[in-house]
This record gives sequence, structure tokens and C-alpha cells, in this order.
Amino acid sequence: MTNVLLKTDEEIELMRLSNLLVSKTHAVLVPYMKPGTSTLTLDKIAEQFIRDNGGVPGFLGYNNFPNTLCISINKQVVHGIPSGNLLCEGDIVSVDCGVVMNGFYGDSAYTFAIGDIRPEYQKLLQVTKECLFKGIENAIVGKRIGDISFAVQQHAETNGFSIVRELVGHGVGRKLHEKPEVPNYGKRGQGPVLKEGMVIAIEPMVNFGKRYVAEGEDGWTINTADGLPSAHFEHTVAVRKGKADILSDFSFIEQILNKPV
Ligand code: MG
Ligand code: MG
Repeated sequence: MTNVLLKTDEEIELMRLSNLLVSKTHAVLVPYMKPGTSTLTLDKIAEQFIRDNGGVPGFLGYNNFPNTLCISINKQVVHGIPSGNLLCEGDIVSVDCGVVMNGFYGDSAYTFAIGDIRPEYQKLLQVTKECLFKGIENAIVGKRIGDISFAVQQHAETNGFSIVRELVGHGVGRKLHEKPEVPNYGKRGQGPVLKEGMVIAIEPMVNFGKRYVAEGEDGWTINTADGLPSAHFEHTVAVRKGKADILSDFSFIEQILNKPV
């Protein structure tokens, strides 16, 4: 396992600050997560909030990505580009946000329901979030990446959903994407051993229908191949003995949401 950068406690505290700003940025968007808001409006609010709080948008300009947020609606899995498109009642909207502060990235995603959504889509959101936390339970010293991957995949598939394989979680630190890769599918006991001070972004992408994806015409957006919806939840976590330290925090979002996922 070469090139996996372990972080010191001090570095992890800096990463917590970056991730808290990501989490608070998500929370600032909650009142706007309703029919009629354009995704570009969400993007501008997020960019301003990040800059006002001493951060720099982490995705803006990354590989020439044009915006602060990746906003992916319904059949869009990830990497949706903000636009004039308006949110509609019944949509599910994944908002992925990255911040750089003190040289370290924060990275977290949450999928929101716009108004009332179909109960089966509510279940998709619930199960995807549960997949994330099943993965996090395995992000402890001595386990392996495959233990995380297996836990995520098992929970999604047991519930009748499917796991996207083309995109994976990742190490995170001074770079947005570091080693190791953290797939959302795999076998227990395989892959790199988890060590104290590893910081990883765990980010299940779970499809309502089949697992296959297709790249959109804009060169960024990843869609489900069958056009059915997809959900995405992500936390940045530090590997510790016995229990992972979750550096991003959904409680900022969920204190404001009427109906938390
Ligand atoms: Mg992300
Ligand atoms: Mg990520």
C-alpha cells in the first residue's frame, strides 16, 4: 500500500474544520431546496458562504469543473453541473460539496428530497444513507478497504437496489483524491489495511434500478443508463481504533430539514 498518506492528529483537526464548513454550507442550502430554485442559485449561495467563512470552493476549477457544487437530480448520479434548471416537486437532488481551507480538503454529499417524493425513492435515500454508515462502521484500524466495500454493497443489494461501480470513494487530504480508492462493492478481508491516520471519503452511489451508468453530453454528468433515480451520500472520515471519526456532519442539515432522510 504505497503512497497512502497518513495524517497527524493536528492535520485531522484541520480537516475537521474544512469538513465542518462543507457541512454548514449544505445546511445553508436547506431553505432553498424547494420547487422553483435553480441549481445555479444553490451554487452561488454555496460559493458565497464558503468564501465568507474563509474557505475556497474545492471543486471549482478542479479538472476544469465550472462550479462550486456538483448537483445531480434524479437519474443524474454525480457530477451534475449547476444550471438554470429549476428544482421540481418530487425530485431527489444530490449536492456534493468540497472546500479547501488551511491546505486541506473537506468533501461530503447529501441527497435531498424536494417536497413530497415517492415512498420508494424515500426508501432509496434512506438505504443509501444507511449504506454510508455501514461502511463507516468498518473504517477502523486493522480492517481492510474491502470490509467497507462489502458492507456498503451488501446493504444496498439486500434492499433491492444496485451499486455504481465506475465511481468510488477515495483518500482525501491536501489533495481531493488521494490513495486508496474506496469502492462501494467488494469482498471482506481484501484491499489495503486501514491504519490510524488514514482519512477517506466514503461515498455510496446507489441506483434504484440497474447499476449501469453513462456519461452525459456535457462531459461531466454521470447518468443512470436506465434513467431511473440514483442517490449519493458521502462523509469524510478519519480511521481510528475501534470507531471512525466522522469529520463531516449531517446534523447541521438535519436540524433544519422538516423530514430528515
Ligand atoms: Mg464529494
Ligand atoms: Mg468524494
